[in-house]
Amino acid sequence: MDMLPTDQLLALDRRHVWHPYAPMPNTGPVFAVRSAQGVHLELETGERLVDGMSSWWTCIHGYNHPRLNQAAQAQMGRMSHVMFGGLTHQPAVQLAQKLVQLTPEPLQQVFFCDSGSVAVEVAMKLAIQHWHNRGEPQKQHFLTIRHGYHGDTFAAMAVCDPVNGMHHLFRHSLVEQYFADAPQIPFGGVWQERDIASFAAILERHQGEIAAAIFEPVVQGAGGMRCYSPEYVRRARQLCDQYGVLLILDEIATGFGRTGKLFACEYADIGPDILCLGKALTGGFMSLAATLTTCHISETFAQGEAGVFMHGPTFMGNPLACAVALENLNILASYDWAAKISAIEAQLKQELAPCRELPAVKEVRVLGAIGVIELHEPVDMAVVQPQFVAKGVWLRPFGRLIYTMPPYIIEPDQLRQITGAIYSVVAGLSPPP
Ligand SMILES: *Cc1c(COP(=O)(O)O)cnc(C)c1O
Repeated sequence: MDMLPTDQLLALDRRHVWHPYAPMPNTGPVFAVRSAQGVHLELETGERLVDGMSSWWTCIHGYNHPRLNQAAQAQMGRMSHVMFGGLTHQPAVQLAQKLVQLTPEPLQQVFFCDSGSVAVEVAMKLAIQHWHNRGEPQKQHFLTIRHGYHGDTFAAMAVCDPVNGMHHLFRHSLVEQYFADAPQIPFGGVWQERDIASFAAILERHQGEIAAAIFEPVVQGAGGMRCYSPEYVRRARQLCDQYGVLLILDEIATGFGRTGKLFACEYADIGPDILCLGKALTGGFMSLAATLTTCHISETFAQGEAGVFMHGPTFMGNPLACAVALENLNILASYDWAAKISAIEAQLKQELAPCRELPAVKEVRVLGAIGVIELHEPVDMAVVQPQFVAKGVWLRPFGRLIYTMPPYIIEPDQLRQITGAIYSVVAGLSPPP
């Protein structure tokens, strides 16, 4: 591949390439990255940025990790891909075994797919087909909670927050699902049963048509970066059992240590019937996601009308992705990640606390390696993004949120650079009118 000059690269990018949640042509600022190493992104223009985003929460062990590169190269020497219909291989089987070991006890089977959104689609289809198999074909709806985010495909989008997700735009193509009020009691707050009253009321009323409840345990990610009481998750588990509804937990963002537990549901000491994983699974190396189920669910499929689960992606169980994911989980097991996350948490708490005094700030929240500044007003990305780059850090705010989810390998002085940049950029924002 020949390298284009940076100005030409950016001009062609503007003309031909869609970016996530961006207009076309893209009017927002875009920076060209040449390479990435450890916690740093290196731009085509020469700047080196400390990455506070882990490439959307995936790159937990840093970029260009020699062990992940080595795992990929070794696997490439054998095969990058083979079809999964009728064939199997070491990376997929060993990764499945590892995931079953790491996740809560009743989860025993793994469905591999390519992205988090598809893992959510798979979870929802599994739930519907499970009830069909059991002679309850009317259970095809879902209960979720407001401010959630589960992906951009249609079924996943239907359980994203209806306001953030602009459901009205897709009104005639989107199935209407049930939305309980978002939990209000923060992480560490004193539990009150009324926090889950609307969730319980919907279940009581519509249990006969609800296949599953689906939500992100303890931390809601892209729908608002909200941290809430694990007691909500525990009570939701009990209510689902009480009303004969499956529980799908979406740990695509929270999984693999980010919140301080390996999986956020551990804070509630419960396990789901179906679990969605993605994002950090390959340590940000490439796309891979997984949906895990219990035997209670899988064993109904043999008797069902279809006799099989009706899903099978072309690149299912991609050996390269599975080999890298397996090595990423080996890396995670090779050091005290929990101590690292609690050190990051302590530093974020200390260094973001002064932001509370700034007039533009509504709230500061920290849990695990997640630090969030909620503002009174939406940020102007065109202004703020270049300011962060000028301060040598990479952060990507959205809406009224400026947040960091750094790689676990970040050093204290590098994290200080991120929190310092956040403080000074937020300090420069005008106060609410
Ligand atoms: C990112 C995310 C998804 C979607 O994953 P993609 O890989 O972007 O399709 C789903 N659920 C949660 C909680 C996520 O954070």
